[in-house]
Amino acid sequence: MPTFPRIVSVLLPQPLPEPFDYELPEGMTAPPGSFVVVPLGPREMIGVVWAERGVPSNRKLKAVTEVIAPAPPLPANMRAFIERAAKYVVSPTGNLLAMAMRSREALEEAPMEQLLIATGDRPERMTPAREKVLAEAGAPLSQADLARAADVSSGVVKALVEAGALQVVERTLDPPFDPPDPGAPIHDLTPDQTVAAEALRKLVRELAFRVALLDGVTGSGKTEVYFEAIAEALREDPEAQILVLLPEIALTQAVTSRFEERFGVAPAEWHSAAGSKARRRVWREVAAGRARIVVGARSALFLPYRKLRLIVVDEEHDQSYKQEEGVIYHARDLAVMRAQIEACAIILASATPSLETLQNAASGRYTHLRLSARPGVSRLPEIKLADLRDNPPETNRWIGPELSTAIEETLAAKEQALLFLNRRGYAPLVLCRACGERLKAPDTDSWLTEHRYSGKLICHLTGFTMDKPLACPNCGAKGSLAGVGPGVERLAEEVHTRFKGARVEVLSSDTVASPESLRELIMRMEGGAIDILIGTQIVAKGHNFPALTLVGVVDADAGLRGGDLRAGERTFQLLLQVAGRAGRADKPGRAIIQTYAPESPAVALLAAGDRDAFVAHEMEQRRAIGFPPFGRLGAVILAAGSSEQANEWASAFGAAAPNAPGVEVWGPAPAPITVLRGRHRRRFLVRADRNVDLSAFLATWKARVKLPPSVRVAIDVEPYSFM
Ligand SMILES: [Zn+2]
Repeated sequence: MPTFPRIVSVLLPQPLPEPFDYELPEGMTAPPGSFVVVPLGPREMIGVVWAERGVPSNRKLKAVTEVIAPAPPLPANMRAFIERAAKYVVSPTGNLLAMAMRSREALEEAPMEQLLIATGDRPERMTPAREKVLAEAGAPLSQADLARAADVSSGVVKALVEAGALQVVERTLDPPFDPPDPGAPIHDLTPDQTVAAEALRKLVRELAFRVALLDGVTGSGKTEVYFEAIAEALREDPEAQILVLLPEIALTQAVTSRFEERFGVAPAEWHSAAGSKARRRVWREVAAGRARIVVGARSALFLPYRKLRLIVVDEEHDQSYKQEEGVIYHARDLAVMRAQIEACAIILASATPSLETLQNAASGRYTHLRLSARPGVSRLPEIKLADLRDNPPETNRWIGPELSTAIEETLAAKEQALLFLNRRGYAPLVLCRACGERLKAPDTDSWLTEHRYSGKLICHLTGFTMDKPLACPNCGAKGSLAGVGPGVERLAEEVHTRFKGARVEVLSSDTVASPESLRELIMRMEGGAIDILIGTQIVAKGHNFPALTLVGVVDADAGLRGGDLRAGERTFQLLLQVAGRAGRADKPGRAIIQTYAPESPAVALLAAGDRDAFVAHEMEQRRAIGFPPFGRLGAVILAAGSSEQANEWASAFGAAAPNAPGVEVWGPAPAPITVLRGRHRRRFLVRADRNVDLSAFLATWKARVKLPPSVRVAIDVEPYSFM
């Protein structure tokens, strides 16, 4: 029998659409999913065997160098997910594989440490020092730790090893996660919660692709309810793994301790702030199936679960699920895709679900479970509009008379106030009073924000930073540059002048640089050491401050100006969330919403506390123009080195747009941020009917034009950013 060379195709974590073929040397086995080292040009690279080729090639192929034996192969479902996700987001498959290989160290043999433990044999000669060592050696300890615990020299310990009274045991440095205990709920569930929990348990037991929307106001106990679905998955299958996605991992300390309380062990955490050692351990433990509950940011979707039985997307409407850099994707959408591939249940939880999800629920594709607030525990505060057209603040002040009075009352009652302004820094714009020049970043079309705490001007899009100049860079006038409009720092200045003696703090991504400093500030607020907290949207999420009774929204219209498709929806969700921070337990709260546009539906229906009416209004608007969730959108952004080159290639690209029924292409138009990091940008917007395979349309279009390497194209399926 002649032996044919065996061929495997290997996908590399590179911007490559297809796997490459390699020959498998005699005696080497590498089934699909195996991690292998292969040559690529002059380099060697780790890739994944994507398929075995039945037909021998007559081309001369390079050979696989080695199979990485310690790494468990990437499961078939994971490979299917990578492929389908790549198609959906119109990105090379290799880019998605790269996201699944975030911990290279996890592929290697787990590092071991050597520990000592008593054998039970007594040494022939016993001394008091030896006695002390053996008394401490009941559990494995390193030589140094054992010597320290017994307060003896390391020589004593060594001698006991030689005498056979201690033995060396090896232990991995990546200890396995302990199995969670499904146990029972800690608190009694309300009748509402019981019904929802039972419905979710049933979905989990069906062992099929099922989507549930868990819809309930803040304080309705969504977490307790989805905990019961997690418990059911754990109970039903001793190997079940559960993924819980959270939008903001820095704020999840509280959630993590609730998991620990409910299931007896802390979940595995996966996010960018975790160190490489922690990531290595989690990746490995997920692959081995021992990490049973994983709590993570959007990238946790790309972990190699062996047996995913349930996914929870908490705060499913949150914008931070959309990744805007590199591979552009929405983690909620890909989570639904992943659940479909795994044939498991997925729960989308929110107090203000996205219109997409509400529409899927309305059409019966998703099960809609609604929770009402628990009586007595917390209720939505009274929401009042302060119409600034009637009662405006003074010049260069932003707190109007109504809000000001309410703050005074709150301080007098020894309660806390939260002022919400979604603008970092001191002033969002710096203007020359002499010539009218507005300061921009040198390579980007966006205004520079003045930051007074740091004395810098910063571009929030690119991070470009400069010292504030003494003279206007345009006309040279000295001392003519003035900040226009308020940021949180300027608001703090106003609060200090108005409410003398009040303890004021600012919470924004600039003032809390680390999760630790955030936690510290939150503890001070909880402990009553802060009277007025001023914050950006970072304050909207998840904190419960018992003495907080007043929320002031300083500029409700900010998110509506220059609005894109989701401006109204986003404003409504955000403001409702912020307003919901006021009032807890026995103290009723109130929210004062300052606005110049009280008639805009997002603001008016917010004041009425009528989410359903707002949703109905917004749905109607979208339906009329065939926008999501009634149609689909895609964006194509071309970026070139010069304006001429951008125009030239944008028109060539536009001319190549395929004709397809149910698809409209608009553009090219200069992007709102026309120049970003020195690159000139042109945008196309594609609207398609719901039944159109928009990804396939975009992929076909992209493939029709061979762009020079200096022109980059980014494709955004279901865009959230229209910049
Ligand atoms: Zn000037």
